[in-house]
Amino acid sequence: MDKENFFSGQMTEKQRAFREDYKRGIAKWYSGWGHLLSIYLPGLAVIAFCVENIHAPTLAEIAILGPILIFYNFNEWWIHKNAMHHPVKKLGGALMPVYHRHVHQHHQYFTSKRMTYDTNREWRIVLFPPYALLIFLVATVPFALIIGYVWSANAGFLVMLSTPFYYLNYETFHLCCHVKENWFVRNCPLINTIRRHHAAHHSQPIMMERNMNLTYPITDWYMGTSDLNRGLFGHLFNGYDQRYIKDEFQNDQGADLRQSV
Ligand SMILES: [Zn+2]
Ligand SMILES: [Zn+2]
Repeated sequence: MDKENFFSGQMTEKQRAFREDYKRGIAKWYSGWGHLLSIYLPGLAVIAFCVENIHAPTLAEIAILGPILIFYNFNEWWIHKNAMHHPVKKLGGALMPVYHRHVHQHHQYFTSKRMTYDTNREWRIVLFPPYALLIFLVATVPFALIIGYVWSANAGFLVMLSTPFYYLNYETFHLCCHVKENWFVRNCPLINTIRRHHAAHHSQPIMMERNMNLTYPITDWYMGTSDLNRGLFGHLFNGYDQRYIKDEFQNDQGADLRQSV
């Protein structure tokens, strides 16, 4: 298979039929770009607002971003592993649509053999609904206010901007996991890593337990839920390398990926 077809291998009949059915159900008025902008514009506006209000931050204030980003990386892993791959009946079933959308739709639409979409109308099944960002922002406000009150306004605004920053990072990287092969996604460090990492996650035999990170595979490395046998640095900059796939996974997603690469 030539390089242009990385991650765009043959679909099974089941996957093809699911895609046709899903695409028929997308509303006529749906616009991929509208969906994308409904996430990025408010996200960038909040980041810009916070940056405007940060004045001469100290190194200690800026350093707060480190633990926050690690915490968000763990959250991304935890939510994906627990709420998106398991039916959570608590909270009045509020998280059930997230599970349904992820396991019964996203994972049927994309498999490790065929990870890519054809047109931007299919962003419908890649991007979260616009209200997800709103929920994350509302959840962040009390923490930003507390940090702003007990430490400094700068630290509070840095906490506030970290949420849309990480969320836009997540959406951008996940979208890059599902675009057709191109020079940028193949060669950009970190993005090429998550592209292979996520393609392996889309392999049906291991999707419930492996490769839960969607930005940087830090928590997967730390929690031992990665399909790779490498250190942290190797995990972050693995790219498309398949040499480090653990032996026990060589026959499921390893084989899938070899077909698609
Ligand atoms: Zn995906
Ligand atoms: Zn998943």
